[in-house]
Amino acid sequence: MSEKPVFSVVVPMFNEEESLPVLYQRILEVMKQTGESWEFVMVDDGSSDGTANLIQEFAGRDERVRPVIFARNFGQQSAVKAGLDFARGDAVVVIDADLQDPPEVILQLIEKWRQGYEVVYAQRTAREGETFFKKLTAGVFYRLINRITDINLPLDTGFFRLLDRRVVDEINKLTEHHRFFRGLSIWVGYKQVAVPYKREARYAGETKYPLRKMIKLAMTAITGFSFFPLQVATYLGFISSGISILVIPVVIIMRLMGNQAFLGQASTLIAVLFLGGVQLIFLGILGEYIGRIYDEVRNRPLYIVRDKPED
Ligand code: UDP
Ligand code: MG
Repeated sequence: MSEKPVFSVVVPMFNEEESLPVLYQRILEVMKQTGESWEFVMVDDGSSDGTANLIQEFAGRDERVRPVIFARNFGQQSAVKAGLDFARGDAVVVIDADLQDPPEVILQLIEKWRQGYEVVYAQRTAREGETFFKKLTAGVFYRLINRITDINLPLDTGFFRLLDRRVVDEINKLTEHHRFFRGLSIWVGYKQVAVPYKREARYAGETKYPLRKMIKLAMTAITGFSFFPLQVATYLGFISSGISILVIPVVIIMRLMGNQAFLGQASTLIAVLFLGGVQLIFLGILGEYIGRIYDEVRNRPLYIVRDKPED
């Protein structure tokens, strides 16, 4: 298919062979209702199950399917970047493979796009089948990000959204390695609107986001959009210097008057350990930023593709 389609549907997949056939059917039915041409960009993010083969099978049967097969697992952020790179539509819909985002909502996203909105993000009003812990950490995450970064991240949004071609082109120009797609698509601006939806339980398989990956993503989001953690060191530095300046003359006067309150090693030890700990923490935070700078400087590709669409 060489004609440019009106819509692209981009789906990152990591071990989703069980969901893929059902996803394909449901997307097919939904996109039929739009009455427009469309393509299906299926990105295999280095799955170890049969996802890649299945994608190739679909591509063989249906010329709307554009297969992008990664050489290894590069993560959902990179998979979506690849999807956007290969998508050709005037509007691009990004959706998860596990059917937690009901494909039927795409029609509502498209309706908003037709009204002239350029970033239409789906916003969860309910989350089915997710643990209390996941909901709690997600809640803390959004509030923290909005507090300390320059972007105003809408609550309870995921990857699921529609982007106008102009927005996609702008996002594709951003080559940063530690990507936070949700943040980037807000950061670019344009006319944005939310569409509320109910997030379902996973169709099959398990979440690919254990706590470790969630913490990593939160760090990427924070360091990608804020210097706040670095500034905290400065604030704390001023506060502790301020306290010492006030306390030093007090202690001297007390000692001259014969007071024994600050004799002994305990108070010295506490002060040294406390400041040592604080310094180590901020060394670590500095390291987080420096490591990210290092990744940017090395400028390795965000993903490596084993197989890609022919045109
Ligand atoms: N995914 C991916 N690469 C990864 C992890 C996940 O492409 O390294 C895909 C996954 O196949 C799914 C989507 O990203 O289509 C969302 O993942 P998941 O459902 O595990 O996340 P959750 O919904 O639990 O936040
Ligand atoms: Mg999911």
